[in-house]
Amino acid sequence: MGRPATATINLDALRHNYRIAQQLSAKGTANGQVMAVVKADAYSHGATACATALADIANGFAVACIEEALELRAAGIKQTILLLEGFFEPSELEMIDQYRLDTVIHHQYQIDALVAHPLNHPVRLWLKMDSGMGRVGFTPDEYRKAWAQINDLSFVKDIVLMSHFACADESDSDHAQQQLTTFNSYTRGLPGERSFCNSAGLVALKEARGDWNRPGLLLYGISPFPDADGIEQNLKPVMELSSAIISIKAIPAGSSVGYGSRWIARRPTRIGVVAIGYADGYPRHAPNGTPVVINGYRVPLVGRVSMDMLTVDLTDLPDVDIGNRAILWGDDLPINEVAQSAGTIPYQLLCNLNRVPVQYHGLLIPEHQVFDEVEF
Ligand SMILES: *Cc1c(COP(=O)(O)O)cnc(C)c1O
Repeated sequence: MGRPATATINLDALRHNYRIAQQLSAKGTANGQVMAVVKADAYSHGATACATALADIANGFAVACIEEALELRAAGIKQTILLLEGFFEPSELEMIDQYRLDTVIHHQYQIDALVAHPLNHPVRLWLKMDSGMGRVGFTPDEYRKAWAQINDLSFVKDIVLMSHFACADESDSDHAQQQLTTFNSYTRGLPGERSFCNSAGLVALKEARGDWNRPGLLLYGISPFPDADGIEQNLKPVMELSSAIISIKAIPAGSSVGYGSRWIARRPTRIGVVAIGYADGYPRHAPNGTPVVINGYRVPLVGRVSMDMLTVDLTDLPDVDIGNRAILWGDDLPINEVAQSAGTIPYQLLCNLNRVPVQYHGLLIPEHQVFDEVEF
């Protein structure tokens, strides 16, 4: 099949993780629902495939923009689809109406656009409060006024009260707790469902679990906490990124490996070359020693990652042959570990993936789950 670099996606693992998110949500309010966050092509796992694999169990899907939403509608996804940043310009309202999308409302210009362009169908709006993230959303003081304005619109069927955590993944931070307190006090008495939690909030902040929870990372089998925390044991990584050894060669002590001669052999060394590099999204900043799994064993990355290849020290693993698979992250090697080694986060490693063909495993999609052309 040519170049061996592959991202293998296990859709059964995705369903397993979704069910864990459901269990976590059920510990909050009795009917906590789980909106599967599949923005950015499902964190590079393939939004259409992932949403289709979850279609019979998911309560809804969240995306970053209308293009991502329409892709899911075109694939036959009929559930709630939420635009996490709302719409960027009024021209999108027609499609929001036609394709029955839910949208976040985070700014007055969006309310003005709704007033100027009334929708034909009832819509559910997610009114976002900036409770301490310092990014999008109405300030706590503006929030009730914004709520009243959209509540007056005849086509607004429901208003979900929504906010987003800045620090839910830092266990020693009380910022998340403060955000929750702010949100609760400024929404007191307002009717409607509530939604606060991303993956980290869902796991760590029981009292923040709401009517709708919005996990992304967790669904892909990745702990939202960089250090082991227990949740990792229950989750199953959905993606395995792998390639193959394409060259093995013995070098004497004192020789250097790769661009900039960053690594110098201290002993006679067997260097293996893996056909994957930063053009595929493997982090160029991964230092010497970043683990790579070959035949079930960890070997250290040595030398700088190149565009299409990287090099590992195989000296302590004598039985490796050309063609053996090398796993860059997956079941035996949490992506969190690679991210920490490279000074980044798993979100960025996933979103940077590029050029690597994606293969799907698991989940025989039953007949009833193969969707017809959508008739919106
Ligand atoms: C991306 C996003 C999420 C999901 O975050 P994870 O950390 O991946 O769980 C939830 N809510 C909003 C508003 C988001 O933008």
